[in-house]
Amino acid sequence: MSNNKYKVLIIEDDAVTRGSVSSLLLSSGYQVLEAENATLGKMLLSSHLPDLLILDLGLPDADGNDLIGFVRKKSAMPIVVLSSRTGEADKIRALDLGANDYVTKPYNPGEFMARVRASLRSGRRNAQEDELPGGSFTLHDLSIDYGRRRVTVGGRDIRLTQTEYNILSLLSEHAGKVLTYTTIIRAIWGVIDSGSTKKLQVNMVNIRKKCGKSPENEEYITNQPGVGYCMASDTAF
Ligand code: CA
Repeated sequence: MSNNKYKVLIIEDDAVTRGSVSSLLLSSGYQVLEAENATLGKMLLSSHLPDLLILDLGLPDADGNDLIGFVRKKSAMPIVVLSSRTGEADKIRALDLGANDYVTKPYNPGEFMARVRASLRSGRRNAQEDELPGGSFTLHDLSIDYGRRRVTVGGRDIRLTQTEYNILSLLSEHAGKVLTYTTIIRAIWGVIDSGSTKKLQVNMVNIRKKCGKSPENEEYITNQPGVGYCMASDTAF
């Protein structure tokens, strides 16, 4: 499948950033739509139904976070936030509202495009989810068989506790999307208490140790300190 099937909307008031992101996407074969404010952005969202939204938070006529909520009411369209707000609380808020990923300015073009591709894949998987009950997940030599609750790396069985398996499968179902600590804790334990984050971190250390790294020496699961975790997504199309 060629990249140029994908239509990307950029909502960003800074003309320089908008132009550079636009050029980057165009040079990778994507179709690009641009909006310099939230009002125009909303119009383009409904008239063009883009495949992915790249969203600035500090917009002249709205806060970008309101747009995340606006999109999520109707659609699972992947959203990558591109913001100069670097605080953990800002990232957590946007991710919990439903953004797939959060990139801070100034951005690294190569890494940014990898995250765009990962978010597109995550969106495509969401669209297919209903058709593929049970099923499996594969990333490099890591495999998860959801029906059997079985995890292998390079064909070798990985022994995980129930909790470790539940966390790993949750992250894999949202591969390419950063899940905040709060989201994971709510999904796994239901309730949050003072020891929850520590408990999650201990489980994550064990999961990452047991699964190891990919043959290319990449982490299967990356940690955004203070924010959350993300299962990598195969970026090859
Ligand atoms: Ca701005």
